Amino acid sequence: MKILVINTGSSSIKYVLYEMANNNVLANGSIERIGENRSNYKYSISSKDFEKEFKKSLTIKDHKEGLRNIIEVITDPGNNLLKDPNEIEAIGHRVVHGGEFYSGAVLITENVKSVIKRLIPLAPLHNPSNLEGIEVAEHFFPSAKQVAVFDTAFHQTMPSKSYRYPIPNYLYENEQVRAYGMHGSSHSFVTKEALKLLDKEEKDTAIITIHLGNGCSMSAVKGGKCIDTSMGLSPLAGLMMGTRSGDIDPSIPFFLGTKMGMSFQEIDTLLNKESGLKGIAGSNDMRDVLEKRDIGDKKASLAIDMYVQRIKKYIGAYIAEMNALDALVFTAGIGENSSVIRELVCSELNFLGIEIDSSLNEMKIKSNHKINSNESKVQVWVIPTNEELEIALQTKKLIGN
Ligand code: AMP
Repeated sequence: MKILVINTGSSSIKYVLYEMANNNVLANGSIERIGENRSNYKYSISSKDFEKEFKKSLTIKDHKEGLRNIIEVITDPGNNLLKDPNEIEAIGHRVVHGGEFYSGAVLITENVKSVIKRLIPLAPLHNPSNLEGIEVAEHFFPSAKQVAVFDTAFHQTMPSKSYRYPIPNYLYENEQVRAYGMHGSSHSFVTKEALKLLDKEEKDTAIITIHLGNGCSMSAVKGGKCIDTSMGLSPLAGLMMGTRSGDIDPSIPFFLGTKMGMSFQEIDTLLNKESGLKGIAGSNDMRDVLEKRDIGDKKASLAIDMYVQRIKKYIGAYIAEMNALDALVFTAGIGENSSVIRELVCSELNFLGIEIDSSLNEMKIKSNHKINSNESKVQVWVIPTNEELEIALQTKKLIGN
């Protein structure tokens, strides 16, 4: 069975074509900067006969044209991937916001599309392009099943005490203002991997998943179910990120508006695009920030201290919420690759039973690996995330049913 996973961002499309018999990646690639003068287009193909990598800079005016380019690549007879586009049995679409409507993958119908559209105010940058990706895919693959996998779905198991905000009821009842959480496919994927690694019944487990990429979020997962997460109504909440502030005093936007005359749009840009690591250290790339810190840059050093302290605060909070902890799981660009950040996060947590082994932590392994010391009461794992595979697996499970 072949499944195509499509992840449309506001100006990008990423895709992976899988052979689900062995979860093999047949082709993957991305198009970035759609709509700009020059889009970056790259793909690689690993068919049984050859490997091919391709990079190009060309103008792609919209998502429809982008998807048409992708389809040309995967249906090109020279690439030996598909004899016929109908071989793709299903397309799994990453959809950012499913609101309270979806707690799992769903077959896309007109009704599902209208719900995704209705939720645009909650994800104005993402749901419109996700919808466009669905419509273009329906056009090019009319016989494939189209499946939506929502970023918010994994967190739908949170109890109301976690997802409600202490603001007047009508804002939840009429406008659905509540915490939804994001990065659901990643938290779900690494949770399932961790559950396989823990020698315990799922119902008795307590795990904290720490997704540290450009966007950062954490989840408390008890008995295999998310009971709290750091992102909220939007992906701006929670941890300090590459360019996003994460949690700040809610009165700061009033200060920016009344004292500094900033508009809503300017405040939005400041908190989403100019804050986080970039706001403090001048770069949103953790590698640059660590390099600057190593040569004595005080702002970079402060940024790292703040970044790490916020993760520690959530670890403490989630242990208190779960009254237990079996495993901490690090994932995504920083979580998987930065032994320095992992070491700093886990330092001085021995009171909580968390202790890592420095030499295990330093090992550069691209698969699941355990980095806690023998004395640690809590297991600490590095588990590479795979959001596209998670989407493909959920799609397969749904159509199998
Ligand atoms: P992601 O959004 O998951 O692709 O993660 C992007 C982030 O991972 C960026 O901040 C990168 O700087 C960071 N990253 C990637 N490799 C490393 C590394 N070896 N050390 C530190 N940070 C890294």
